[in-house]
Amino acid sequence: VKVVETIAELQALSRAWRAGGETVGFVPTMGALHEGHMSLVRAAQQRNARVIVSIFVNPTQFNDRGDFRNYPRDFDADLALLRPLDVDVVFHPNLDEMYPAGDAGMRVRPGPVAEPLEGEHRPGHFEGVATVVARLFNAALPDRAYFGQKDAQQVQVVRALVRDLGFPVEVVAWPTVREADGLAMSSRNQRLTIEQRQKAVALVHGLAVAQAAFSAGERDAMTLARQAAVAIDSFPGVAVEYVAIVQPDSFAGSTNAAVGDLLVLAVQLGDVRLIDNAVIGAGDLIRYRALQLQEA
Ligand code: AMP
Repeated sequence: VKVVETIAELQALSRAWRAGGETVGFVPTMGALHEGHMSLVRAAQQRNARVIVSIFVNPTQFNDRGDFRNYPRDFDADLALLRPLDVDVVFHPNLDEMYPAGDAGMRVRPGPVAEPLEGEHRPGHFEGVATVVARLFNAALPDRAYFGQKDAQQVQVVRALVRDLGFPVEVVAWPTVREADGLAMSSRNQRLTIEQRQKAVALVHGLAVAQAAFSAGERDAMTLARQAAVAIDSFPGVAVEYVAIVQPDSFAGSTNAAVGDLLVLAVQLGDVRLIDNAVIGAGDLIRYRALQLQEA
């Protein structure tokens, strides 16, 4: 696998591939790669002749300095994971390459979809995301870019970026990959203690409890969200930040939950913040409630 550190070199490669009729798939990441990232890479490989994976821990999307400092970084381990997949290029720029003007540089201000939930609890986060994704798109010049549904609001912010600024890129959202107990894979899971890791099933348990209530006929969005929150709060040491039911595209809050709405949540476990979501009525997470009830 070829490691590229400059935008000029990446653009030259991508242009040459595209001039030769090859499509380019792009998977942006912040490293500390896991099976969720790998599933995006494989999805990109299925439909594109060439695949670029970027690894850049983007400081502008961290609203919390401690979170940025403690974010797991292991470039050699990441390369070892990517090598067998036969990725064409790993783009690994440094800070100056990505932000030549530093703090004085231009930023992309996202629209209303970035305001609630993650936007409210992580001020500046989506501005950082939109800015770095715009920069990365201009560097990789991809035909398609792959994003995980785990970060559902981020997917919509990126779709809005592409729509509003006219990037010629197809955005592909890919399903969340989970651990055996249902915990959504995340680089931040590495930072959990053994006890916190066990309690982290609280997230998927909360999603499953609300899904079960929806299946049983409950439609009031506040009631469903409250049931999920109560279920999560029953795990000591797990603090709910928000639980909400929203429209899947606009992220506007729902009053009456309907099939296809999105149940989204964020929790804090010690100093680790985790998010997850589920499509209302999808039924794929119900078994994680059964698992929990069995153990209780
Ligand atoms: P990150 O490195 O956390 O910025 O994530 C890079 C990309 O991988 C983003 O599009 C994420 O949404 C996606 N991703 C992270 N975790 C998962 C997961 N468990 N399943 C699928 N995609 C994921």
